[in-house]
Amino acid sequence: MTGINDFRPRPDRFAAGDAVAVGNIVDSCGVCRMCRAGQENFCSEFPTLTYGGTDRHDGSTTLGAYSREYVVRDRFAYPLPVGLDAASAAPLLCAGITVWEPLRALGVTAGTRVAVAGLGGLGHLAVRFAAALGAETTVISRSRSKAADAARLGAHELLVSAEETEMAAARDRFDVVIDTIAAPHDVAPYLGLVALDGTLSLLGHLGPVALQTTDLLVGRKKLSSAGSGGRPGTASMLEFCADHGIAADVEVLPSAQVNEALDRLERGDVRYRFALDMSDLA
Ligand SMILES: [Zn+2]
Repeated sequence: MTGINDFRPRPDRFAAGDAVAVGNIVDSCGVCRMCRAGQENFCSEFPTLTYGGTDRHDGSTTLGAYSREYVVRDRFAYPLPVGLDAASAAPLLCAGITVWEPLRALGVTAGTRVAVAGLGGLGHLAVRFAAALGAETTVISRSRSKAADAARLGAHELLVSAEETEMAAARDRFDVVIDTIAAPHDVAPYLGLVALDGTLSLLGHLGPVALQTTDLLVGRKKLSSAGSGGRPGTASMLEFCADHGIAADVEVLPSAQVNEALDRLERGDVRYRFALDMSDLA
């Protein structure tokens, strides 16, 4: 089996003059073990983030994402494969790669039983990726209100976390549970859904987690996390998306409406990501 970072882009995917995409990382040390392994997102000197980061050369604060111009080390500019639209590809470079890497690292493939908890920016892409990888894909949601959306995204089933009988029936069922819930929450119910030797990957909320080790012991279950991605993973994800017609659901707003976008984000009023069009700054 090849590792998730053994990836060479196919030149036939790109056309001369194609757009390039920049994610949430614009630089890294390039020489530490993580960088050499193709995991620049885990750079031991911390990667330079696109916005609010510290430039490695002059110490200034990086101002990408909310600006028309970027300073980016060339290796962090990814050619956008033919067929991907810039606006709907933009969230792939952060939310997308954050869910893509654990799915690949955990070996998700045809027939893997995958559950995705939380159907938002991260979750809707996790469902699309898992389904396109051939996994039996289930969405876990607080209510049945997102059932139609889950099906549209490619999920085969929706499990309601508030329904105790449904949750009990799904005990020890999933090889991989991708938890994208953004707020602190009890992980025990989700660990209970993990199958023998399976993994719960916590992606939505970073911070302290309380758990009973017996919930890991029984079933040899594993707990993992992930965030952003390295260069080979990002390039392979973009190619996979072009091959499978996958992109994020976006609402495009002119950059002048950035405050409206941020207000609505706070209320959770977006399906599932905003893309800001900077051309109004020209
Ligand atoms: Zn490094």
